[in-house]
Amino acid sequence: MSEYQTHEHDVLVIGAGGAGLRAAIEASAAKVSVGLVCKSLLGKAHTVMAEGGIAAAMANVDDRDNWKVHFADTMRGGQYLNNWVMAELHAKEAPDRVKELEAWGALFDRTKDGRILQRNFGGHKYPRLAHVGDRTGLEMIRTLQDYGIHQGIEVYMEHTATTLLLDGGRVVGAFGYDRERGRFRVFKAKAIVLATGGIGRAFKITSNSWEYTGDGHALAYNAGADLMDMEFVQFHPTGMVWPPSVRGILVTEGVRGEGGRLLNNKGERFMFNDIPDLYKNQVAKDTEEGWRYVTGDKNANRPPELLTRDHVARCINREVKAGRGSPHGGVFLDIAWIKEKLPKAAEHIKKKLPSMYHQFKELANVDITQEAMEVGPTTHYVMGGVRVDGVTQMSTVPGLFAAGEVAAGLHGANRLGGNSLSDLVVFGKRAGEHAAAWAKSHGQGKVDAGQVESAAKWALAPFDRAGGENPYGVQHSLQDMMQDKVGIVRNDGDMAAAMDGLAVLRKRASAVGIDGNREYNPGWHTCLDLPNLLTVSEAVTRSALDRRESRGGHFREDFPDKSKEFSNHNTVVRKGPDGAMRLCRERIPEMRDDLKKVIEENK
Ligand SMILES: Cc1cc2nc3c(=O)[nH]c(=O)nc-3n(C[C@H](O)[C@H](O)[C@H](O)COP(=O)(O)OP(=O)(O)OC[C@H]3O[C@@H](n4cnc5c(N)ncnc54)[C@H](O)[C@@H]3O)c2cc1C
Repeated sequence: MSEYQTHEHDVLVIGAGGAGLRAAIEASAAKVSVGLVCKSLLGKAHTVMAEGGIAAAMANVDDRDNWKVHFADTMRGGQYLNNWVMAELHAKEAPDRVKELEAWGALFDRTKDGRILQRNFGGHKYPRLAHVGDRTGLEMIRTLQDYGIHQGIEVYMEHTATTLLLDGGRVVGAFGYDRERGRFRVFKAKAIVLATGGIGRAFKITSNSWEYTGDGHALAYNAGADLMDMEFVQFHPTGMVWPPSVRGILVTEGVRGEGGRLLNNKGERFMFNDIPDLYKNQVAKDTEEGWRYVTGDKNANRPPELLTRDHVARCINREVKAGRGSPHGGVFLDIAWIKEKLPKAAEHIKKKLPSMYHQFKELANVDITQEAMEVGPTTHYVMGGVRVDGVTQMSTVPGLFAAGEVAAGLHGANRLGGNSLSDLVVFGKRAGEHAAAWAKSHGQGKVDAGQVESAAKWALAPFDRAGGENPYGVQHSLQDMMQDKVGIVRNDGDMAAAMDGLAVLRKRASAVGIDGNREYNPGWHTCLDLPNLLTVSEAVTRSALDRRESRGGHFREDFPDKSKEFSNHNTVVRKGPDGAMRLCRERIPEMRDDLKKVIEENK
C-alpha cells in the first residue's frame, strides 16, 4: 500500500487564482471548512498576469452603459452560443463584485472626480474595464489573497491534484501530491470546486504559464463530467514575437485601448481594410475619429484595432502570410505615434502601460515610447470547459463545481477582453456559495481505498520505466502539432491528421519514463501533466472537426462562413463507457423574451 496523508474539508477548492480564491472566500463565509490547493505558491496563479482590466457596466466614464449593453456585447462577442443565464448574471453582478474588491482594498485607477476609471477594450461598446494601469490581475490577486487569508481557509501550496475520487458517481475527494517532496495526499471533501484555469500549454505559442496544462478539464472529464465548446480557443492577436525565448508573451489589448495602431511593413493600417458588416456602424471610418474615441469622445466610433480578438488575429495572420509582416513574422504595433498628439506622450505611455514598457525594454530592448513593437497571435484563453449549471456552477457530476476559465458557458464562441476577470469573481462567488450549501446538505461520502491505491500506482508508473521515452519530447511534439494543425486557421485534413497524431502521442505518453526520485522532480511532474494535455487536445480537435463552420475563435478555411446548422447548439464531449471520447451536439435552450428584446434594442 502507498503511504499518504489525509486532510478533510467540507469544501475543497482546487486552484487559487481569482476564481478559486473568490470561491474559497464565499464558502468560508458560509461557515464550512475550506481547503485550497494550488500548484504554485499562493499569489502566483495565472490571474496575476492579467493586465488590461475587469469588465463591469458601472457607467463611470460613459453614462450610457448598463448591464443590458454589457449583456448584449457579451452575447454578440460569443456569437450567441453563450449560456445566456450566465451572461445575464455576469452583466448584472459584475459591478457589485468590482465594488466589493474596492471595499476589500483594491486600488483602481480613478477618474478626475474620484470614481473607478474604466477603459475601452475590444468588443465593448463603452469604456468598461476597471483597471490598475496594466497590472489589474496583480491587484486583484493581492486583494483576494489579503482578504482570504483572514477567513480561516487552509492553503496547500505547491500541491497538484491528479485524480478526483468518486462514491457512486458523486465526488468525495481528490488525490494528489506535494510538488516539493512528492508525498501523496488524499483530500476528503463533500464538495469540490475546480478553478484550475486554462489549457494554453497544449500549444507551442502561448501567453499562458506552465500551470495551464488543462488539469481541471481532464480531472472533470475523467470523473464523468461533460466538457463543452472545446473547439473555441482564443488566439490573442498580440503576443511578443521576438526574441524567440519570449515568443507568445502577451501584449495587452490595453495598448490598442490607449491608441496603439497595427501596421504592416508598408506602414498601412491594414485593419481599416477588413471591418465585418456586424460592426460597420461601430467602427471609425478614419483615423482621426478613432483617436477621438480613444480620448473619450462619446460621439466617435472606435478604431478598427479594437474589433474582436479572433478577427484581429486573423487579419494579422493574413498580413504575415501575404508577405507584409514585420522582420520576425509579426506585424507592427505602434503606440509611440501618439507623441504627435500629446505633449508628454512618453510619460503618459509609461503611466498607462508600465508593464508593457518594462517588458519590451527588458526582454526585447525596444523602447515603446519611441518605436513600434513587433507582435503576432498567441494562444491565450479557452472558452470551452466544464459544462456547468449557470446559476450554481455545479457540473454534471454531483458535488463537483467549476468556476473561472476551467468552466464553459459565459463566453460562447469568443470572450471579450476583461470579461474573464469579472467571470472569476461573479462565478467564483456563486460556486463557493453553492458548494458550501451542497456540503451542508450532504454527508461525507466514502473514499474508496482501491481508487486511492490505483491513483498512487498510476502516478508512480513513470519511475518503473526509467530510460523510457522523454516526457518533454512528447510534450513538445504535442505542442508543435496542435499549433500547426489545430491552431488559428483550421481545416479538415489537418485536424484529421492531428487525430491520428494524438493516437501516436498517447502511445508515446504511456511509455514515458523518469529517473531519480520523487523530490523536486519536474520531469516526473511533466509525465503526470501529459495525459491531461492529451485529453484537452483531443477534446479541442474532435470538437473543431465536428463544427463545420467558422464562428468566434474557431476558424476553418474549408468552411469560412457561419452556418445556420451550427448556430444554436453547443458541442459536448464526455467519456463513453468504453473509456473513449464521445461527442454530441446539444441544443441551446430558448432565450427568455425579455433578453431577446435587450439584444434587439442593442443591435
Ligand atoms: C498575460 C495575460 C493577461 C490577461 N489579461 C486579462 C485581462 O486584462 N482581463 C481579463 O479579464 N482577463 C485577462 N486574462 C485572462 C485571465 O487572466 C484568466 O482567464 C484568469 O486569470 C483565469 O483565472 P482562474 O482563476 O480561472 O485561473 P488561474 O488564475 O490560472 O488559477 C489557476 C489555479 O489553479 C491551480 N492549478 C491548476 N492545476 C492544478 C492542479 N492539478 N492541482 C492544483 N492546483 C492546480 C494553479 O496553480 C492556479 O492556482 C489574461 C491572461 C493572460 C495570460
